[in-house]
Amino acid sequence: MKAANSILSSYGTTIFAVMSKLAQEHGAVNLGQGFPEGLEPPAVLRAAAEAAEAGPHQYPPLMGIPALREAIAAHDRHFYGLDLDPDSEVMVSSGATEALAACLFGLIEQGDEVVLIEPLYDSYLPIIRRAGGVPRMVRVEPPHWTLPREALAAAFSDKTKLILLNSPMNPSAKVFDADELAFIADLVSRHDAYAVCDEVYEHLVFDGRRHVPLMTLPGMRDRCVRIGSAGKTFSVTSWKVGYAIAAPALLAPIAKTHQFLTFTTPTCLQTAVAFGLRQPPEVLEHLAVDMAARRDRLADGLRGIGFDVMDCPGTYFFTADIRGVGFNGTDEDFCRHITVEAGVTAVPFSAFYQDRETAPSHYARFCFAKLDSALDEAAARLGRHFGRG
Ligand code: PMP
Ligand code: GLN
Repeated sequence: MKAANSILSSYGTTIFAVMSKLAQEHGAVNLGQGFPEGLEPPAVLRAAAEAAEAGPHQYPPLMGIPALREAIAAHDRHFYGLDLDPDSEVMVSSGATEALAACLFGLIEQGDEVVLIEPLYDSYLPIIRRAGGVPRMVRVEPPHWTLPREALAAAFSDKTKLILLNSPMNPSAKVFDADELAFIADLVSRHDAYAVCDEVYEHLVFDGRRHVPLMTLPGMRDRCVRIGSAGKTFSVTSWKVGYAIAAPALLAPIAKTHQFLTFTTPTCLQTAVAFGLRQPPEVLEHLAVDMAARRDRLADGLRGIGFDVMDCPGTYFFTADIRGVGFNGTDEDFCRHITVEAGVTAVPFSAFYQDRETAPSHYARFCFAKLDSALDEAAARLGRHFGRG
């Protein structure tokens, strides 16, 4: 039999699926794969049910239903002061994952360079490489994840097509600050490049911080694609409703890709997300308050056991140093060990690096977007296991 595509075949099953399966097999509290528990807004669920009953059930427009595109434009006007034309500057996708793939396949030509900041979300590299892009990696280092400006500037060249920027950033929880964004914007402009901005955690920034899209910086309106995810904003990760926002000339090639990837996204879910985005802004703002309380609850529990837990200004993950509880193996060993022996699952941090050999191997990522009872149970189990409960 002839071989399948060699780039995609070189990747294993995603770490999220691997760890969730292991968690299930061992009845572990799953703080690995990033999905929330107990946060789905009832009114949004009702809106989906009503729309599913009422129909229509046939293909919606390829750019998304007008009600959702208008709601996204209104949302971005309210939160970011962006003035978007819902007809030509907003595209609904099947999750942020599809929006990312549509951007990368739609923009990258063979040999184009793509600047990436590591550690990074696992769907980026396979798609960039499959699209013919050449990754130029820059690392941010724990515990402060400060942008290494010289290295970033050196990663840009006249071959740079785009930078893929994820803020708030999975898995480091870094939120890029105003100076860092300005520095990136300047590089993007000077190299006549684009920025694909993965902003799925836009409503998960904590402690009074505000999310600032790169698109709102001077010179960036026509160079950025801003990607969001209703799965994150409304805690419904199975819905896979995302969106890409960009100036018409930039969105056009992305929409062309989208029409051949999925073409559309279920109408009833689009209708429910449109309803959700039209709620008073306080409803969306409340998510971060609620999530920060969960973050603190789990962080306090883990610190009490001896874990060194890093600061977490955004997303619903934090990183803990596993050496604090006297574990001497790798992060992969650790995540397996606690799943099997303690009944708690986390994700090994090295999974978010292209080269695992040089990746840090003593961190685990914990998802705290869970019910208080699950967070308490996880801390209790780990405490008992490591003898500090
Ligand atoms: N980007 C990042 C950084 C993520 O963590 C995720 C996780 N789900 C996604 C994109 C994908 O979002 P969606 O589920 O909307 O496809
Ligand atoms: N984004 C989620 C995470 O980082 C998981 C997404 C997935 O399972 N593909 O855990």
